Amino acid sequence: MVFRIPYSDVQFLRIVRCLFPAPVGGDYIAPLHNINCDSYGRIIMRPMTFKLIDKIDSYGRIIMRPIAFKRVDEIDPYGCKEITLVEFYYFCKMKTDIRSLSLPQLQEAFIAMGEQKFRAKQVYEWLWMKSARAFEEMTNLSKDLRKKLDEQFVINAVSVLKAQKSKDGTIKDAFQLHDGNIVEGVLIPTTERMTACVSSQVGCSLTCKFCATGYMDRKRNLNADEIYDQVVLINQQALQNYDIPLTNIVYMGMGEPLLNYANVLKSIDRITAEDGLNMSYKRITVSTAGIAKMIKKLGDDEVKFNLALSLHAANDTKRNEIMPINESNTLEALAEALKYYYEKTENEVTYEYIIFNGVNDEIQDARELLAFTKHIPCKVNIIEYNPIAMADYLNAKVDKVEAFADFLRKHGVITNVRRSRGKDIDAACGQLAIKEK
Ligand code: SF4
Repeated sequence: MVFRIPYSDVQFLRIVRCLFPAPVGGDYIAPLHNINCDSYGRIIMRPMTFKLIDKIDSYGRIIMRPIAFKRVDEIDPYGCKEITLVEFYYFCKMKTDIRSLSLPQLQEAFIAMGEQKFRAKQVYEWLWMKSARAFEEMTNLSKDLRKKLDEQFVINAVSVLKAQKSKDGTIKDAFQLHDGNIVEGVLIPTTERMTACVSSQVGCSLTCKFCATGYMDRKRNLNADEIYDQVVLINQQALQNYDIPLTNIVYMGMGEPLLNYANVLKSIDRITAEDGLNMSYKRITVSTAGIAKMIKKLGDDEVKFNLALSLHAANDTKRNEIMPINESNTLEALAEALKYYYEKTENEVTYEYIIFNGVNDEIQDARELLAFTKHIPCKVNIIEYNPIAMADYLNAKVDKVEAFADFLRKHGVITNVRRSRGKDIDAACGQLAIKEK
């Protein structure tokens, strides 16, 4: 099928985006192999792409299936949305988030706009090294170019809607996204570290019973630049409040990072890039509730950052109760995935263990955890719980926590006890975002 639509590279990219709204966690560029351009500037669509197009009627209108136009509200009773070519062009004219483009893509776009390639590098540096939030800030570009960029692109920057500072120095942020959604991030200062905790999704689909975010629906994945922005903003807070830059980043905020795999890895690439924040992979930890398939994928990708597993129980019955994801990702499946991951990466894993009063705080629970630690080299972080209004869980008693930790240590497991931070400022994951909604 051939549409005779004149195009430039930038238009072409928009048309692709128009036909393929970003899938959850996906990348706009992925389906490019299904669409091509011939030497006459015609767009050629391969058969897979036809599925999105119902028909072209006798008036030359393109009739698309709803999936192709998620942004369109009105869909007819037959499940189709009619659009005219004019409308089609309108969609193609939607501004592109400039930070969704890689440097080569940006360079291509600049050439298509009749601009010099080196200008793309300048813009890229403004976006990623200098964290520019508007084209106006890019003062080494001509006014004309800034205007042109403004007409074609948008910078979907994240901003701080509310920041709460705890007595213990922890700062909790409600971040506002360009579409009005809110996610959370936290700055955790200690004597040895300055840690940022960032979110990877708006809400979460995993319904862990002890977590406020688990009571929200998952609305969408964050883009890589939205995750990166949280780090940049928290780093600014670290400098402003403590005169110390971030030393560590943990992906333990709202959402399950491994269900937003591509964007999480892309954001880590930006954080570690020389023209990004130039941080070491070893300072970054991704924490998962336990998606066995994706843990194996981390192994296949031989990732260099750290992995933490939110375990919280080493017994399937108890874990099913507090983390329903365990029903489809059992401890046996997780152990197998972790072994595979370790074989591929040789990275030791951290098991996070929130200790709840009367749920998982007995020596028998510690014994089960000890057995689980035998699978691969690991260490354990026992974490004090921050209670939430939606659930009845309480933090375990101090003597139980100490006995639990001692048992593990006596059996040779490296065990840290992490005290809860920011108790006075809605510190539990999801609490502040729910309040600010
Ligand atoms: S603990 Fe993590 S994975 Fe579980 S519901 Fe909360 S945000 Fe989602």
